[in-house]
Amino acid sequence: MNIELTNPTLFRTEAFVNGEWIGADNGARLPVTNPATGALITDVAKTGAAETRRAIAAAETAMLSWRQQPAKQRAQVMRRWFDLIMANQEDLARIMTLEQGKTLAESRGEVAYGASYIEWFAEQAKRIDGDVIPAPSGDKRIICIKQPVGVCAAITPWNFPNAMITRKAAPALAAGCTIVIKPASETPLSALALAELAHQAGIPPGVLNVLAGSSSDIGAELTSNPTVRKLSFTGSTPIGKMLEAQCVPTLKKTSMELGGNAPFIVFDDADIDSAVQGALISKYRNSGQTCVCSNRLLVQAGIAEEFTAKLVAATESLKLGNGLDENVDLGPLVNAKAVNDVHELVQGSISAGAKLVLGGAPSNLGGCFYQPTILTGVRPEMPVFRNEIFGPVAPIISFETEAEAIELANDTEFGLASYFYTRDIGRVWRVAEALEYGIVGINEGIISNEMAPFGGVKESGSGREGSKYGIDDYLEIKYMLMGGLNQ
Ligand code: NAP
Repeated sequence: MNIELTNPTLFRTEAFVNGEWIGADNGARLPVTNPATGALITDVAKTGAAETRRAIAAAETAMLSWRQQPAKQRAQVMRRWFDLIMANQEDLARIMTLEQGKTLAESRGEVAYGASYIEWFAEQAKRIDGDVIPAPSGDKRIICIKQPVGVCAAITPWNFPNAMITRKAAPALAAGCTIVIKPASETPLSALALAELAHQAGIPPGVLNVLAGSSSDIGAELTSNPTVRKLSFTGSTPIGKMLEAQCVPTLKKTSMELGGNAPFIVFDDADIDSAVQGALISKYRNSGQTCVCSNRLLVQAGIAEEFTAKLVAATESLKLGNGLDENVDLGPLVNAKAVNDVHELVQGSISAGAKLVLGGAPSNLGGCFYQPTILTGVRPEMPVFRNEIFGPVAPIISFETEAEAIELANDTEFGLASYFYTRDIGRVWRVAEALEYGIVGINEGIISNEMAPFGGVKESGSGREGSKYGIDDYLEIKYMLMGGLNQ
């Protein structure tokens, strides 16, 4: 497929190991397709355990000098990477839309959002401070320093092909670690383009490596190899649990950014128009394929009719189509399986008594498109309430009291993002503190940025990405006791 890019060097199809572009040892290739058209874009090197082992060895060697560089120097190289990403924003967005399907506007936004983590952690590299702690006796001092945890591994999903990589690579590199990254098989091109720009920015060979390919083979090597000291995974909860278990024999540090089932609560004192706008953006972003997408709209009974009517009207105005067309609001789902999974959840819920008020089927555009869908009368036992939908489906659940809303919201094994709308300051505090979630959006539908700690509780995982806390996952504290000071 002929792809028009201003900077053709970004279109990379081999694995990036130790500063070199390599094919798979056995010559295997992985096809990459456009979910909007089904067309083959290209194929990339499909690597496995042996290539991963070499990448880990390269990362180990590279770390010897990378960690010794003054933080300011590491920060400067990272800053160049940030600048190059922003200079190539349009091309990176095009590549992303082609392989992932999201609209160009969203892809541009993700490139900037992803880059913001590199900018942020480049700055944080200079703030990895230690401590001097009062000792139990006068002739001693306690000193704490922070050191890079070691070679890191990252396994990332297809729904944010750029940002899920930078959110891990940036703190790792800032801390003085090196990293081996396995992107999702659906979206390797965005990851390889980032590697090319890291290379152009002067990030030394072996510091950042990217291998697409067999997830089980690469994953098994990354999780069992004793040189790897940390795994950061973003993806589904079942795979996260499996990888966590695989890390146990070598006791790696792990960060797990897993699935969600976000409640979006609208109380009867809320600004309803603002809540509708918040629901629209938090529900339909990336066609509903984000871990923080509102998954259950809990609406207080007295305003349920008005809220539903306004949400239906706003949803009807969204245009579905190929993400490369500038006037499109919603792109396709990532593949045919995703369309089937979403449709099953919708049909199962309708069979269990939910009322369909909009959409409810694959779009007549064909391929991987699914109609924006709204269901009312949803109850906790229905499939759309219990499962992460990962599609443009808004289930509306009506409730009577604040206590009932909190109980419904917390009635899930997940605990990533949550949202609520109210103008009552007392309720703001009560509800925010009662929600069992890592993230709470209050009168806001978009919650993620590089300055804030992103992460979940319960089966949504562990660890935080972004903010001043995000670098801690890539550091170990070393305590030194200095004695004999009175001699
Ligand atoms: P997934 O199936 O768990 O895949 C995620 C990554 O894991 C991909 O790179 C995949 O590789 C890899 N993988 C799959 N099986 C593996 C194995 N046996 N060993 C090692 N790696 C393996 O998830 P997904 O469907 O791509 O992503 C959607 C999920 O991610 C949703 O649940 C969403 O909520 C979650 N998510 C969470 C966050 C967060 O920050 N909490 C952010 C975004 C997404 P292949 O592609 O090669 O199979």
